[in-house]
Amino acid sequence: MSSKAQHVVVISVPVQGHINPMLQFSKRLASKGVRVTILAPAYLTTSLQTMYGGLIQIECISEDDKPPHGIDELLEWFETIVFRSFRNLVDKMEGSGCPLKVVVYDAVLPWAQDLAQNHGLKGAAFFTQSCAVCGMYYLMYSGKLKVSTTENSSVSLPSIMPVMGLQDLPSFFIDTQSYPSLSKISINQSMNFQKAEWLLFNSFDNLEKEVVEWISHEAAIKTIGPTIPSMYLDKGLKDDKDYGMSLFKPNSESCIKWLDSRETSSVVYVSFGSLASLGEKQMEELAWGLMRSNCYFLWVVRTSEDSKVPKDFKSKTSEKGLIVNWCPQLDVLAHPATGCFMTHCGWNSTLEALSLGVPMVGMPQWSDQPTNAKYIMDVWETGIRVKGGEDGIVTREEIEGCIREVMFGEKGNILKNNALKWRELAKEAVDEGGTTDKNIDEFLSQLIK
Ligand code: UDP
Repeated sequence: MSSKAQHVVVISVPVQGHINPMLQFSKRLASKGVRVTILAPAYLTTSLQTMYGGLIQIECISEDDKPPHGIDELLEWFETIVFRSFRNLVDKMEGSGCPLKVVVYDAVLPWAQDLAQNHGLKGAAFFTQSCAVCGMYYLMYSGKLKVSTTENSSVSLPSIMPVMGLQDLPSFFIDTQSYPSLSKISINQSMNFQKAEWLLFNSFDNLEKEVVEWISHEAAIKTIGPTIPSMYLDKGLKDDKDYGMSLFKPNSESCIKWLDSRETSSVVYVSFGSLASLGEKQMEELAWGLMRSNCYFLWVVRTSEDSKVPKDFKSKTSEKGLIVNWCPQLDVLAHPATGCFMTHCGWNSTLEALSLGVPMVGMPQWSDQPTNAKYIMDVWETGIRVKGGEDGIVTREEIEGCIREVMFGEKGNILKNNALKWRELAKEAVDEGGTTDKNIDEFLSQLIK
């Protein structure tokens, strides 16, 4: 394929859960000969390098070391620095003899579509959440979905979706106040349905078959996921073992060494991703719930959350548990000692668990996580979800019970077998001739036209 002359620029929100899938997609493009330039602020470029013999390059667009605190502030700042640097980038690439053709942009940044058009480029919106969640945002955006938060209310969704209560909906349907910019841009992602030349989704056809068909009536979409490093799935990209960029420093060696000394399926891996923050009371219940389960556990507590771990917890559980600030999650999930994944159900973590065949205990916090948990439990049937009390807190007894059910109960075996089935389907999708592989090829041939 003569994709060599093609040059794509990638714009992702500079947070872990967005960079990971967009970087992985960039690797798939580069493996097919496309040149990719990724825009990134300075604090990311220090950990990113050029890849694929220079086919993937990182363009630094700010010299500031520290981004602003808070996700809403980060989004505003990022928009400013992209706008400031884009004209220069276009001119520079034009001058280098390899002009930009297409902007592949994070769908939560719909302004990037206008930016592309204003510079004579085409736009491809990249959705980093599930097709089901994006479909729900689309209904909300177009006024076809109304959510009332009165008691006992449920929502009327297309019949291809499971029946959902308020606790299963994306949190921004109910709480639009806590993160005004983020809720707005999440729902507004759908404006790309009309504007963008391509709509790319980090999912795969078999995983969300009916939803994909349903959205396809509204807009032509391409599933291009799961965007997991190739060595965990099809092994088609040489040496593609990790995402290649981490905002946090992983304690890789100590995690793997610790897991190596544990028996098969004996460890609960616990992580709430890169953004979610649990309240102090909830952290306490989680800690004692882990201890009560009497299982070995590997718990990721980011540095910013460290102070919420009960004071005497580490010393009381030193025989059973390891707490780290960040870990190489894919290696941990793929490790034979890992028996279950207690997760916030972020979309990447969900896809990773499905692709590696690990059953889950879902403890969703916000954003799309409640809906992902609903699908994990009732559609893909690879996990269960903890129940919160009236005050929203999930008790230590509940946590203990759910962990034990997945680790030792009959249900655990069923979930594990289902997870292994999804693993095969994920592999099939990305493998040569699979739906994802074909969709990426189709995207490339349209790019060349
Ligand atoms: N992750 C990791 N190490 C950790 C915790 C998370 O590498 O200790 C990675 C994980 O593999 C996933 C990403 O961080 O790719 C988190 O993305 P997700 O969508 O699950 O959650 P978010 O951080 O966006 O809430």
